[in-house]
This record gives sequence, C-alpha cells and structure tokens, in this order.
Amino acid sequence: MNRSRILVAVVLFFALFAVVSCDHTPPHEHEFGPCVINGDGVFRSCACGYTEKVDEPVAISSEPEFFSAVEYGVDVILKADVLVTSGNGADEYFHFAKDIEVDLNGHELSFNVSVQLDKADAPYKVSFVNGKILSNDEGAIGEIVVSDDALLYMKDVDFCSRSLHCGIVVKNSSVEIVDSKVFSFGSYGISSDASGESSSITIRNSTVSTEEEESGDNTAIFFGVQNGYVEIYDSTIVGDRQALVIRCGKEHFIENSTLKATGLHSRSFSRWSSGNEVPNAALVVGNGYDYDPYKSETFVGLHNAKFDAPVDDHYYAIYVY
Ligand SMILES: [Zn+2]
Repeated sequence: MNRSRILVAVVLFFALFAVVSCDHTPPHEHEFGPCVINGDGVFRSCACGYTEKVDEPVAISSEPEFFSAVEYGVDVILKADVLVTSGNGADEYFHFAKDIEVDLNGHELSFNVSVQLDKADAPYKVSFVNGKILSNDEGAIGEIVVSDDALLYMKDVDFCSRSLHCGIVVKNSSVEIVDSKVFSFGSYGISSDASGESSSITIRNSTVSTEEEESGDNTAIFFGVQNGYVEIYDSTIVGDRQALVIRCGKEHFIENSTLKATGLHSRSFSRWSSGNEVPNAALVVGNGYDYDPYKSETFVGLHNAKFDAPVDDHYYAIYVY
C-alpha cells in the first residue's frame, strides 16, 4: 500500500465515523400536531420530539381543544367551525367558569347542549367576537344561562338560539351585546331570571329579535327583577308580542333606538300575569300583577326612541302601568 492509498483509507475511515457517530437529526421544519392545553399553558409538539410553549390566543379547530381551552381559561381563535356535542361536566350542560375570549374568526361555534356560565369564586368574563354562534338545542332549556357575577360579552357576533324558551337568560349577572345580532326562536330573546335580584343587559349598535311562528307569543327583551338595568343604544329590538317589557327597576335607558312589536301575536290581552303576560305593546313599563318580585317603582328613560306597533285595537306603542 502506498502512502496516498493509506491517506485515502484514513480519510474515509474518519468520514464514515463522523456520519455514524452523529446523533443529530438533520434540521427540518417542525410539523406540529394539535395544541395540548394544560394547567401550565399551551404546548405543541413535532414528531421529532421537539415541544414548545405557544402564546395565546391559540388557534383551535376541534371540540376537544375547545373543552381544554374553556377548562383552563385560555384565549382561542377558531381555524374552523367547531361543534360542541356534549356537556363538559357531570350534567348535560356546557359550563364556563373562567375568563376566556373566543375569537370566532369568521367561523361558527355551535352548541348542541345548553350553555351555563357558572357561579365562580370571582367575577369573570366570557367574550365571543367576530363570527357566528348557534345554540342548537331545541328543548325548553337549550339556552345560554349567565349566572352570578359572570359577564357574557358578544361583539360582531351573529347569535341564533333554537331554544324554545329563551336565547340568553341573565341571573344576577350581566350581558353586553355590541355590533351584533341576537335572534331567538323561543318565547324570549334575552330575559332576566325570575329568581335573580339584580341583572344588567346592555345592547349597543345591535339587533335583538324573536320569532316563534305558532302563536307569536314572544318578547325580544324581558326584565323583571328589582335591581340592575337595561340600556339600549343605537339598536333595533323586535318581538311579535312585545319588543321590550320592563316590570321593575329605575335605572333603564333607551337612546337612538327602535322598538317594534310585529303584532303576529293575535290574541287580545286579558289580564296581567307573570312573564310577558302583560299588554301587547312595543314597550311595556310597570306591573299590574299582585306578585312580590315585580313590586317596585319602575322608571325608563327615553331619548330619541322610536316605537312601532300595529294599528290595531289590542296593540299599543307604549303601555305604562
Ligand atoms: Zn421536528
């Protein structure tokens, strides 16, 4: 063997050693699977074993990812429509109990179960922005119930409820609707819960409407607790029997808005009772029913408000008791 052959053999040996002994996977673009959300944050992993923490909001596209985000209170942005098919607790409700912002990003979030914002240790806010929400449970419940000290906030949302009872129920809590549409196929669009004591409903630059074809016995917004308020600005409120019923409270205010009763509820009013069993009108203020929860002075401030009701002997534009 001459010297040059020995040199080539030595070089080949080290070259081979270098290839075999290197334990580094060649660099590649990581391909991440679905995000994993847990108590420590949000993480994503590549098949190579690399894992990194992900900043919020987290892009999600599936029901399990949405469950985790709600459980840990992680803000999300939807990459696709998400359908919630079951409850996330011991019952059939889908529960929220922590701050979360859901950027719908033009997509639709559908619930086939009723939704409940629970009573929690501290006040919290559930925000939905920029997309569609369908509450698809056609049962008597199948609504969004907002409980003690929770705030439900919607901005740029098209919300449709197929609940036969109510779209959004407010119980010692708050609802704020901004630049949105709320539509309910039930008896009420947004309603205070009769067992509550103080609730607030704020509507800005939005439409709230109800339509329930069989009887037309529906009301877009109903308020019947002692404390709290309804505030409506730059909005349109439409119900077949009444647009707005305010049975209690003195802090209500309506500005630059239209309230319309379509008149599809054809029965004449007979006597005051609970709920919307009150005169047929675009706006009803006060209470002619001897029942404790409704017994209080009632006051509604109006500024540049329009009222639209059928020219009919059993409909009023405004009825004040
Ligand atoms: Zn990788």
